[in-house]
Amino acid sequence: MGGVVDGVAQPAIVAGMGALLVLLALSAFYFFWRSGKERTARDSALEQERALRRQFEAVMTSTRDGVLITTQTGEVALISELAAAILGLSASTATGTPLTRLPLRTVDAHLRPLLAADAFAVTDGGRPRVIGVPGRRGTDDIRWLHVHARRVDEGPDGRPITVTTVMDTTGLREAAEAISRSDAQFRRAMENAPTGMALVDLEWRLMEVNRAFAEMMGSTVAALRGTPFSALSHPQDLQAERDQLQRLYDGHQSHFSLEKRYVRADGNVVWAVLDVGLVRFAGGAPDHYVVQLRDTTDDRMHSELLAHRAMHDPLTGLANRNLLHEVLHDLLEQPDADTRVGVIAVDLDGFKGLNDRFGHATGDSALVHVAGILRSATGGRGTVARIGGDEFVIAVQDTDCSKALFDIAAAIHDGLRRPLAVKRHQIQLGASLGIAMADDETIAGGGPTILSAADAAMYRAKAAGKSRTEVFEPSMRTTSDNQTALAAELARAIENGDLVLHYQPILELATRTVVGYEALVRWQHPTRGLLLPNAFLPLIDDRGLSVTLGTALVEQAAKFLGRSPSDTAWVSLNVSADQLGDSEFADRVLTAIGRHHLSPQRVVVELTEASLVAPNTRVRHELTELRNAGVPILLDDFGTGVSPLSYLRDLPVSGVKLDMSFVAGIPEDPAGARVSRALGALARELGLATIAEGIETEAQAQFLSRCGWRYGQGWLFGVAQPAATVLSAHPHLGTSLIDPRPQELDESIGEHEPLV
Ligand code: C2E
Ligand code: CA
Ligand code: CA
Repeated sequence: MGGVVDGVAQPAIVAGMGALLVLLALSAFYFFWRSGKERTARDSALEQERALRRQFEAVMTSTRDGVLITTQTGEVALISELAAAILGLSASTATGTPLTRLPLRTVDAHLRPLLAADAFAVTDGGRPRVIGVPGRRGTDDIRWLHVHARRVDEGPDGRPITVTTVMDTTGLREAAEAISRSDAQFRRAMENAPTGMALVDLEWRLMEVNRAFAEMMGSTVAALRGTPFSALSHPQDLQAERDQLQRLYDGHQSHFSLEKRYVRADGNVVWAVLDVGLVRFAGGAPDHYVVQLRDTTDDRMHSELLAHRAMHDPLTGLANRNLLHEVLHDLLEQPDADTRVGVIAVDLDGFKGLNDRFGHATGDSALVHVAGILRSATGGRGTVARIGGDEFVIAVQDTDCSKALFDIAAAIHDGLRRPLAVKRHQIQLGASLGIAMADDETIAGGGPTILSAADAAMYRAKAAGKSRTEVFEPSMRTTSDNQTALAAELARAIENGDLVLHYQPILELATRTVVGYEALVRWQHPTRGLLLPNAFLPLIDDRGLSVTLGTALVEQAAKFLGRSPSDTAWVSLNVSADQLGDSEFADRVLTAIGRHHLSPQRVVVELTEASLVAPNTRVRHELTELRNAGVPILLDDFGTGVSPLSYLRDLPVSGVKLDMSFVAGIPEDPAGARVSRALGALARELGLATIAEGIETEAQAQFLSRCGWRYGQGWLFGVAQPAATVLSAHPHLGTSLIDPRPQELDESIGEHEPLV
């Protein structure tokens, strides 16, 4: 509050100037008074003297200072009425009395007694002397005076005189004391205030700050005193602050409030509402600023969090569909969007099965894991969004966009290659990717158009075998439309029973007797003809639908067995892992067996090895349920999965089906042959029934048979055919799968034996 205290000193300066005026007038008066005494004879001089006296008295009464003139010997030559009143004297008795003999008691600023000679000693041009004149009640009732005493070297008679002005400052002093008292109170209040407070000078330098302020800035009160306030501001918010300060200084506003950022000593950014008022002098001149600072970082965080939440997926923290649409809208508006913008649609392969088998917590971990891979693959080149369960989209912007798209896609496949470890399981993830680049059509159509283009390419990737990337081309647009229409049609077809099983014979290789059939589903489409499973099974996205389909096919297969002339031939049903887990499938199988009076060994369940990477307890439980009821379980595509061998021992598996990729290599590919032989040996070691599939040549059949593969199927023996065709062909009676007869191994086949 320095300015306010200075304000108290101002009247003293004005008073000092008044005293100088008085001094001039007095010197003139004294000169004429003395010379007047010597030249009384001259009337004109008398007249002049009277005029001067009137002027002198006018000056004496108009000044706020009391005036006292003393001679060199310390005698009061003249005392003004005001001076007499201030000092508590009578002017007439004081005149002519030496200062030391005046009935006057004086004290210094510390209330120590002061001799009159000292009280009125010359101060010359210096600061006024402060003296106190105790009243009737002593120091309780004291008048405070400012005394200026100046020696006028030559009086009119050539002898020095002293002109003294006295000013009563009692009122001012009381005011100053009150102010300094309230100043102290203000400081105390400020120090303990919970909000940041500061007094800032006109150069915007911190004069005084409180603890809360220092804490907010991560500094100390002492360190901040004298610092330029701007040095604490976030550079981006400086201009706004300067503008507001200028308006305040210029008087366009009395106060301003601004939410802005500061940079703490530790480098962290804090948000605060800055409130600034300008304190002005009585005359209106600016004195200093009073500043309040309220930390709004938490509020900001909260509202930013809410805004973030509205635009982001809570599980992965990625952008959500809303934000993706905004981003795409902005990207496609850009002038060179057609060379810089592209989209990658990412859909996880087999995520539904993973969720069902391992539970939602594991599914969520997998999504978070994938989100991390997508983020790091994208780097700073785009926005990654999760727009549905296992659907992600990356909006890419890059100067070399097509390169960036392919790089990102490659990095995603690469990142997914490493299995995800959850609890004790190693889960292999994969994704199908579709790329679409902005072109005239997508720019015109906006976000939804480019997204559906990327989707179409992604569907193509799924249909082409998953875990791959396809790039959109206009011909796909109709395909994707077809795809959606087909999915809807498929749901109806399943309900209508338009999906039928065809049966491919399985033979005992040594005897070439048909012992069973693999049931393979086909869609007898009204306009498109017979559709194979790869054309429509990937469209089944919905667990409900795959369960409905499974149920319908179990019933068909059971009916087929019931009508079969053999009472041992079996039917292998393909079951995907997402059809298992809640015992519904097992219930259907056992119900169908009962209804058609079948031996349970005649209904066989085939599971792909890949789907058994880490069977959870529910799937294992359902399989055990089936196995205990006498239903054999086969591991399909044996040799392609990554499951540890221990699973083979732990699971209730009765047999394995050698994947046809090994069979296809026989006899040209020695590796295929070796693997077939090794896997055959392993399966027999574990006491499992052995079936080889995809046998197209006699050579393959013979080689496999000699390697210990007991059963076989393939085009060599027959394609899958409708039930009616198979039933009318009167097949040979077969043997039961779970009661394999002891197998004679052809020991003549050695490691280095040339392949037949
Ligand atoms: P998969 O279980 O490995 O079935 C064998 C596939 O190989 C069948 O194809 C079959 O027609 C074909 N195949 C048979 N013999 C030969 C041969 O000598 N050479 C060659 N190159 N291929 C041969 P399809 O019928 O297209 O079935 C494909 C896949 O669809 C099946 O593979 C199976 O995983 C799945 N699938 C088929 N039916 C069903 C079903 O009813 N339910 C479920 N969940 N999946 C099914
Ligand atoms: Ca199969
Ligand atoms: Ca297979």
